[in-house]
Amino acid sequence: MSKVTIRDIRTIFTEPDGIRLVIVKIETSEPGLYGVGCATFTQRPTAVKAALDDYLRPFLTGRNVADIEDIWQSSYVSSYWRNGPVLNNAMSGVDQALWDIKGKMAGMPVHDLFGGKAREAAAVYVHAKGADNEEVADSVRSFMAEGHHHIRVQIETPGGFATYGTGGRGSANIETSATNPDEGPRWITERIGERDPDLKYAHPGGVFEPKPYLRSTLSLFEHLRSSLGFDVELLHDVHERIPPILGVWLAKEVEQYQLFFLEDLFPPEDQEYFRMVRGQTSTPIAMGELYNNPAEITPMVKDRLLDFMRVHISQIGGLTPARKLAALCEAFAVRTAWHGPGDTSPVGHAANLALDLSASNFGIQEYSIFGERTREVFPGSPVVHDGYMWPNDKPGLGIDVDEELAAKFPFQERAYGGAWDAPRRADGSVVRP
Ligand SMILES: [Mg+2]
Repeated sequence: MSKVTIRDIRTIFTEPDGIRLVIVKIETSEPGLYGVGCATFTQRPTAVKAALDDYLRPFLTGRNVADIEDIWQSSYVSSYWRNGPVLNNAMSGVDQALWDIKGKMAGMPVHDLFGGKAREAAAVYVHAKGADNEEVADSVRSFMAEGHHHIRVQIETPGGFATYGTGGRGSANIETSATNPDEGPRWITERIGERDPDLKYAHPGGVFEPKPYLRSTLSLFEHLRSSLGFDVELLHDVHERIPPILGVWLAKEVEQYQLFFLEDLFPPEDQEYFRMVRGQTSTPIAMGELYNNPAEITPMVKDRLLDFMRVHISQIGGLTPARKLAALCEAFAVRTAWHGPGDTSPVGHAANLALDLSASNFGIQEYSIFGERTREVFPGSPVVHDGYMWPNDKPGLGIDVDEELAAKFPFQERAYGGAWDAPRRADGSVVRP
């Protein structure tokens, strides 16, 4: 085949089910040959589009689509200062689209380009949540009935406190508690509101306190293991909110409940604390979604301070760096658990799956169930049944975007541009995720 070049790079915005998704489409000099990639940075989508339209598009138009490695390396240093989430996500959209194109040119799925299937399908975990122990247990039971074997569990913190992963607990909580002086952290709200009436609306993440969160979480695990037994694999995400020494304590306390993994104990800035955890407990540790660059997690991998590396593939710049990171992890018996929340588009999930299938050190894949409209916008979305994600074995990433339908779901207006809802401690200070 004669040389095929990049003719155009376009950014597609769509929000079929309440999450802003960013897709990159690369059109080539070959009529009908194109690729798609995930560039979703849902808190800053228009910044990613600007990085693509104003910089990568003119920089890469006319380049040979075959040269994925060189395109990645030259894009990485094209701003001289690099390693930020905006450029990385833009690069990921390009990178995944180029792997999609290469697969189509070869007539092979991307997992075949990566060495072929090391397994038939990828085990996934799903998210159970609830207001109390029994509600979470019911949610776990219904997932088990659907054939799921791995389930993340998160419980609301009583007393009007915010927590992670239970949905819908934010400023509304505070309003409720403000009407009842006996319930929840009323005085906090009043103080924040007095200082700056707009503040609570600018930061509707609620009020988080570590001890109530820890008590309800430990009570949940006691309840789940005594009522469901130990056959089902349970996972939990701390989301980095607690002081590090309490994280060390939690990891020790949950050892008896035999978690599949405990996720995000500390923010990347405090990663040295994992050394302390490692010396005191064998609770499996998962970490990685906030890292921008494989180099940031390499020290943890080489010192065997984690069991599951769960970097977000678009956040580090696409499949090109991710497959190298997977290989590095293999050398240290660290398994992969690529970040797969709702703000990974189905295109991003298809990219995750290509590595899940082909990497021998795959561990587990996070899966946030696609909505019906999302599936329609993205024909060929990976299918999950019996607790596994299955490939469709079409060439490339095996997925497409219906642009006409995508355009019917434009981005919705959001306060403050859709900024991350940081919770605050009782004294009003920001909790860092
Ligand atoms: Mg997490």
